[in-house]
Amino acid sequence: MLIIMSLHSPLRDIEKVKTKITEKTCVAHEIPGATKLGIGITGPTNLLNEEDFLTMDSVEEVIRVTKPYKLVSREMKQDDTVVKIQDVTIGGKELAVIAGPCSVESRQQLFDIAGELKEMGIRLMRAGAYKPRSSPYSFQGLKEKGLEYLADVKNELGMMIVTEAKDTRSLPLIAGVADIIQIGARNMQNFSLLEEVGQLQNAVLLKRGMAATVEDLLMSAEYILSQGNFNVILCERGIRTFETMTRNTLDLNAVPMIKKHSHLPVLVDPSHGIGIWDKVPPMALAAIACGADGLMIEVHNHPEKALSDGFQSLTPKNFKTMLNKIEQLAPIVERKLNVYAKAC
Ligand code: PEP
Ligand code: MN
Repeated sequence: MLIIMSLHSPLRDIEKVKTKITEKTCVAHEIPGATKLGIGITGPTNLLNEEDFLTMDSVEEVIRVTKPYKLVSREMKQDDTVVKIQDVTIGGKELAVIAGPCSVESRQQLFDIAGELKEMGIRLMRAGAYKPRSSPYSFQGLKEKGLEYLADVKNELGMMIVTEAKDTRSLPLIAGVADIIQIGARNMQNFSLLEEVGQLQNAVLLKRGMAATVEDLLMSAEYILSQGNFNVILCERGIRTFETMTRNTLDLNAVPMIKKHSHLPVLVDPSHGIGIWDKVPPMALAAIACGADGLMIEVHNHPEKALSDGFQSLTPKNFKTMLNKIEQLAPIVERKLNVYAKAC
């Protein structure tokens, strides 16, 4: 259920509404919008009576949310959510670009790539320290050491860090370094992990599971919002289909469908989506054309030597060429690139 109140409702009116909600063991979530204040309600809303709220001061409307996901739904919040990380926004007019290697491999590798990305104006750097790999014999990441190098990049170069939390055990350490905590495809339905990131304030990048529907993705995001963390960014990264020519099938249908059903920002990761480096730029352009709020791209200075996902990684030079194309496309979809991409 959603209570719509006037944006400048007196605090005592808001408190009275919240008390009525909590009296019935439901939970009240304030959702400020551009023109109205929403109070989203989760829990046993069948115990609540719509008329009881309609007679209260400052209450304008009461809406029953019909979808199984509530707080992430467009019904609950009509304006697009813009996640802010320092001065970078994800979900507004500006397109966000997260770039970096699949994994942290060494201090030198991380600093070399970070230096090149910074030069191109990239502010959000990705690299995994804890890697969830399909095989136990593949490189598992540098773990704590990797996080230490990411913290160094953050402190010395002023980049913001996006890195994956693989389990609840390492989450507190990761939360201390990550500006955006990535929840990977393999963990999209790790509900204990989702609940724990929901209790943090860090932004969360939730990637779609490889066999998950768009509704499954939205339900997983609901776990995070229901714990109080509304700084959630969704990410389409390809799903498994019968097609074997590409690593995954990048489901760009998901972008407009998520936009229709949810207010949360959506990024697209064409690197994992197609898995072939020279096919990443066209899919990145397609993602922006269909309404994505930005991109996550794997970039490596020596893709042939990468310890994970080298084949899908762009060199900094190819990445820059791609950025220039994105910059030209952006105004056609009424967007702007929030990086300063120098001409090649
Ligand atoms: C990654 O971003 O490197 C990664 C492991 O992604 P995904 O969870 O989408 O496979
Ligand atoms: Mn990867």
